[in-house]
Amino acid sequence: LNIKSQKLLKQRQELPIFSAKREIVDYIYKNKTVILVGETGSGKTTQIPQFLYEEGLVRKNNCAIAITQPRRVAATSISKRVADEVGTKLGARVGYTIRFDDCSSKYTKIKYLTDGMLLREVLSDPLLLKYRIVILDEAHERTLRTDVLFGMLKEIQVKREKLSKDQREKMRSLKASETHKVPSNVRGPKTHVKFENSDSELESDTKEAIIKKPKVQEDEIFELKIVVMSATLDAEKFSNYFNGAPILYVSGRQYPVKIKYTYEPQNDYLDAAHLAVMQTHLETNTDSGDILVFLSGQEEIESLEKLIRETSKHLPKSKTGLVVAPIYAALPQNLQNKVFEKLPSDHRKVVLATNIAETSITIPGIRYVIDTGVHKVRGFDARVGVESLLVEPVSKSSARQRAGRAGRIDSGVCFRLYTENDFEKLAEDDVPEIMRRQLTSVILMLKASGIDDVIGFDYMDPPSKSALKNALLELYSLEALDDTGRLTDLGRWMAEFPLDPVYSKVLYESIKHKCTSEALDLVAALSVDSLFYSPIDNREAAFNAHKQFQSLNGDHWTAINLLKAFNEYKNNSSKVVIFDQLENDPDSFEFYENENNKDKSSSDKLEFWCKKNFVSFRNLSHVIRIRQQISNLASNLNIDISTSCGDDTDTVLICLLSGFFYKCAMLQPDGTYRSLIGSQTVHIHPTSSMFRKKTAAIVYDQLVFTNKLYAKSVSAIQPGWLSIAAPRLYGNNSF
Ligand code: ADP
Ligand code: MG
Repeated sequence: LNIKSQKLLKQRQELPIFSAKREIVDYIYKNKTVILVGETGSGKTTQIPQFLYEEGLVRKNNCAIAITQPRRVAATSISKRVADEVGTKLGARVGYTIRFDDCSSKYTKIKYLTDGMLLREVLSDPLLLKYRIVILDEAHERTLRTDVLFGMLKEIQVKREKLSKDQREKMRSLKASETHKVPSNVRGPKTHVKFENSDSELESDTKEAIIKKPKVQEDEIFELKIVVMSATLDAEKFSNYFNGAPILYVSGRQYPVKIKYTYEPQNDYLDAAHLAVMQTHLETNTDSGDILVFLSGQEEIESLEKLIRETSKHLPKSKTGLVVAPIYAALPQNLQNKVFEKLPSDHRKVVLATNIAETSITIPGIRYVIDTGVHKVRGFDARVGVESLLVEPVSKSSARQRAGRAGRIDSGVCFRLYTENDFEKLAEDDVPEIMRRQLTSVILMLKASGIDDVIGFDYMDPPSKSALKNALLELYSLEALDDTGRLTDLGRWMAEFPLDPVYSKVLYESIKHKCTSEALDLVAALSVDSLFYSPIDNREAAFNAHKQFQSLNGDHWTAINLLKAFNEYKNNSSKVVIFDQLENDPDSFEFYENENNKDKSSSDKLEFWCKKNFVSFRNLSHVIRIRQQISNLASNLNIDISTSCGDDTDTVLICLLSGFFYKCAMLQPDGTYRSLIGSQTVHIHPTSSMFRKKTAAIVYDQLVFTNKLYAKSVSAIQPGWLSIAAPRLYGNNSF
């Protein structure tokens, strides 16, 4: 251990889970599936994989532990922490894999990855033979992909057991003996590990299991161990699903948290949160603990950050040390660590977080929680056939988790920015994603991994028949399935790409039409909400700056023009450092990042160009990175990524339509648009270059509902293109 990890070992040893190490390892060793329940912050995610490694369960070559996370930020930040604890470089013994970013190697024994990435790995390694143990973390969240993994892993476990038996026979006949380290010092459970139904048969069963001799050791070669980890107590459902797998409860340390409600419902919870932060900061001692605010997303976090920074300028001298630390999915990795940093005692941290801080990552030092009571929920609006992302009230169980974050170091306070009456009206739990999301992408994954009967699949909670039908129909229209429901070659190709099938289809068509360069621009650009920004106090300048990129065809080509213009600028301009003209805030992390950035001139150049053109630096950087990643993947599949159709806008839009044919609307005589699916009235969003323009038909990236249904990222299309782009759906139609 190096000095850093030795220091961290002290912290590790204080975690509630540490004293239960032996029992936990033993349980996992003895049972093929274990459900582990422990309060948030007790050490499940960071410690259990290390325990299993230390006890020798994955010492052999070619066998590792996979730990799934529903969120990318959790996978990256937790793996970094664990690498520090273990004392290795990230990507060596400890690593992570998220989409477009693989920081693992053949030496990686503890790998944190998003649930989506593990699903992908099933495609290339159908029995997941790389892993001896798969830990499904954050199971209580019931994300769509974790739910699908439940079923897949259950199946894989059975298949590997069979493989294991066959192998054993073979080995017996060969009289070969494989040895495997057995965890030493096997003992019964201690008191702090409680079992479900303490007096029931289960306990005697499990006790017996411990006393029993270890199984024939060759069995273990192929055995897949599944550990399901959850932060909420209702684990019976998981246990039942996994044929009565034992549940281990690890008690955490939790101090009392005082809950305070508002007397009146709040019209503007952002305003209320701002007030609550400042009030808490002024009325309590700065060193009494940090503040954590739960908000719904990046935009809100950025607004509140601004508000707090503004008011901080007018604080009394003794109260100036207020430091804002945001954390959300799209936050660049190098800025994420700010929330974990320890500040001097005359400073106080205000963490502004999405529900990532609810159970996924534990931020140390929090004593005050401010809960706005909302989160963003992904849904699928079957009426219009599009995915939605809406701000909605949280469930009671989320609200309780949020409050719990205040009681980790000492008794704390949670301010709920809603009334007690409104709390009582909240749903007890969230509806599992699989019952409310679009299934197209996961159904394609199931089909591609050889599971043909997607209706009879062993779901923990089955999705609705209509959602399944929708997904199958869309895949059929995309030509990923044939008319008997079997995967086509194109479908297999699409599944290989770590993209939504709709996007892979666009890429595929662009190869045929020789415009991969533009298609890559498109697919990358659609990964961010918007590349442009226009500040309230400078709308006109922004409008004028944006004009140069604008295409008459609408937003998609506008984005392509922007990327082309940027590339041109980058290639032509000399390496001048334009530093003074940037308003760098020395408080911000970016400042130091840039200061230390070796490639300073190019990054500054990029930032300057963005500022001048009212382009979001952060989003453009993201788009360029994503484009690079997809290009690399495409190159690996021997795709010529440099074909371009010049300014043949129609061809590119037809390629776009080959994937986005569901997201179209037709102009009506009354001047509004009507969606092709569901016949809903759709308005073009004011941020679109197509706003107030009339064209026979439009294609859009997403619909958002505020007071009306708005289409965002809109382009003009000709109705006739639909039958070319999606012959299976619109082949005989004339619009
Ligand atoms: P669980 O999975 O049970 O919720 P974790 O294993 O995520 O718990 O966290 C265990 C402890 O490690 C927490 O107390 C948390 O504060 C600490 N921790 C985790 N990541 C970091 C980090 N990046 N920096 C500092 N502390 C961390
Ligand atoms: Mg955890």
